[in-house]
Amino acid sequence: MSSLELLADVAELSEKIGPACPLCDEAMTFRTVVPRDWRRVAVAESYPLVWCGRCDYGELADRPTPEQAAAAYDVDNYYTHRRAFDASKHSTEERVSFFDRLRTAIAWRCEQGVTTGLDEAALCRYGVAPGATVCDIGCGNGGLLTRLAGHGYAMTGIEPDPAARQVAQSHGHMVHIGSAESLPFEVRSQCFDAVTMMHVLEHCIEPTTAVRNAASLLNDRGVLIVETPNNACEGARRAGITWRWLDVPRHLNFFTPKSLRRICDEAGLAVLVTEFTGYTRQFKNDWLAEECEIRRRFADTAADSAADPDHAAKSFRAARRAAWRLLGATWAARAERKYDSVRVVAVRR
Ligand SMILES: [Zn+2]
Repeated sequence: MSSLELLADVAELSEKIGPACPLCDEAMTFRTVVPRDWRRVAVAESYPLVWCGRCDYGELADRPTPEQAAAAYDVDNYYTHRRAFDASKHSTEERVSFFDRLRTAIAWRCEQGVTTGLDEAALCRYGVAPGATVCDIGCGNGGLLTRLAGHGYAMTGIEPDPAARQVAQSHGHMVHIGSAESLPFEVRSQCFDAVTMMHVLEHCIEPTTAVRNAASLLNDRGVLIVETPNNACEGARRAGITWRWLDVPRHLNFFTPKSLRRICDEAGLAVLVTEFTGYTRQFKNDWLAEECEIRRRFADTAADSAADPDHAAKSFRAARRAAWRLLGATWAARAERKYDSVRVVAVRR
């Protein structure tokens, strides 16, 4: 699809009334169209996104079935992709230069967010001390289970993907089959000191059910910790549909600090803490290279690349310049505009 056709699509869509916002029930408005799944370019499908200005919340207009959602993960994993990508003609441009190192060093000096990932220090700050019971919903291959179990937390995992679950179980973790929307039977009757959903809520077909279910697993003094990409950050605004963490259609829901707090509120929770994570990584070459690749696949510039052998080098140089501009615009910005992720800590009201 050409960019002109895409613009016509957006103009046409913006006239249409969108589906009701799951947080306030008002009609959402069409905001943009993602032209294709950049990880599965053979799939001929585009993805309209709708937005609720009241709640600052977005989602895919057409909700996938569980089967369709599962199919979106049937892609080469990230590292496989990177190997193929590095071997291509992009490799020279990706070499880390002195100025690349300088850019990330400056960003690192200006990063004052919470350490990326969730650790013992963060849990203690939220009042969850070693020895506490923690349920990690969407635990993947069990990275968080391993890290926190090492500090004396009693960990339980929930994961729908059989391959990821197997890896986690091979490390000796208790991992149940299920998801936030459909809690495993064995876990439903239990209560935990903390429930974590780290970069999970944006993948859920029914996010409001997911948060309500997670809240139902908390004991009287239990805390829910939810982290998602921060769609209010400047990097997201500038990159638009090519933002690395938009990742449609694996991501179905798009939060900002306001909407993440709102969905917790809607589930009967009181948000105690809002924190931000992830700054330096937005300035690293792998981040820039992936956004270049997403842009190339959306724009269908295969023809340009063939006509101009320097096309890839030019687009990476442009990405480097954009990264410096982003650094200039955000190094002293308030956290909501600066960090790529937002985390809330909430308790039952
Ligand atoms: Zn709303």
